Amino acid sequence: MKAVAVLPGSHEVKVIEQEVPRLAEPDQVTMRMLDIGICGTDKEICSFEYGTPPPGDDHLVIGHESLAEIVQVGPAVEHFQPGDLVVPSVRRPCPHPGCLSCRSEQQDYCYTGDFSERGIKEAHGYMTEYVVERERYLNVVPAGLREIAVLAEPLTIAEKAIAQIFWMMQHRPPWLDPQTPSEERGRGLSALVLGVGPVGLLGAMTLATAGFTTYVYSREVPPSPRIDLVSAIGATYVSSQTTTFAELAAQIGNIDLIYEAVGHSHFALQALQVLGTNGIFVLTGVPGLQAFIEADPAHTMRNMVLKNQILLGTVNAGLEAFAAALRDLEAFRRRWPAVVRTLIAGRYPPEQAPDLILGRPTGIKSVIAFDVSS
Ligand code: BGC
Repeated sequence: MKAVAVLPGSHEVKVIEQEVPRLAEPDQVTMRMLDIGICGTDKEICSFEYGTPPPGDDHLVIGHESLAEIVQVGPAVEHFQPGDLVVPSVRRPCPHPGCLSCRSEQQDYCYTGDFSERGIKEAHGYMTEYVVERERYLNVVPAGLREIAVLAEPLTIAEKAIAQIFWMMQHRPPWLDPQTPSEERGRGLSALVLGVGPVGLLGAMTLATAGFTTYVYSREVPPSPRIDLVSAIGATYVSSQTTTFAELAAQIGNIDLIYEAVGHSHFALQALQVLGTNGIFVLTGVPGLQAFIEADPAHTMRNMVLKNQILLGTVNAGLEAFAAALRDLEAFRRRWPAVVRTLIAGRYPPEQAPDLILGRPTGIKSVIAFDVSS
């Protein structure tokens, strides 16, 4: 079977041939991979800046955003059967008995750093025809989400963040009533999303769905399908080419939440200066190596203390975030059917993966499909 792999030793990204994997444990399933999304992390891995093959291997099969169909189940599998659509999670626990997070199936909070991530760190990924996985790492997908469920994994980033944001807001003035329906929790509050890539756009859709008055700020200038999408979900797009952070802050008023989805340290630091009183700043982008910049940490600290601000970094996601992502994809589909149809830029065969990953992104999310006709 085919797989798309990166070979760090020879600096290659290519389609390789592999054996079809077999069930080895009774609680495993075999999945036929349907859709595999491409993201910025894949680009970094294929530029040899990130990612590690499994110990002893010279290659890493990439791909961590996916949708699959179960084709075979082991005798101890309880919750799945052939034909089910599933989205597998990415991170697998570290082996250390003392890691409280991994021992309680919260490996996204792993203390030791010895976790693995499929398609990223020491475990092969999903950009291949068949994958064997344990059922505990799978999330069932309603059949109606077949076309867009590959977006569940990038959406978990927003879901994990928003769960923590609301938890904090329930404990900070002006206290949020835990009984407030989820679609009203952000009402009366403003959110600023930095970045108009898939993570930013999915973040904006999640925040708008939760009732925040949502702004998206990025370099892009109109005309652009991404900016059109921002308007279509009822959010306001502002370009950094024409509006400074200070002007943006004056336009918004108190900025209650900033959701960073760019991975650019200077841009993020500038944004932190305009975070409002009692504001929460969420960092989701993983910056590559960047040139040193001049900063004014005293001003930043002063603001953070005097305005009771929170700076929150968040990575990966647990099963609850996957469940929330699948619920929200359904909500997006009902609320913005035309927008949802534009989220997937196209489905391409694996041979095109290296060019798609390393080239300039077209559309919103490019997807590799092994059977493009399916
Ligand atoms: C993936 C996460 C992963 C992170 C860091 C992201 O692109 O979505 O699952 O934890 O990269 O490796």
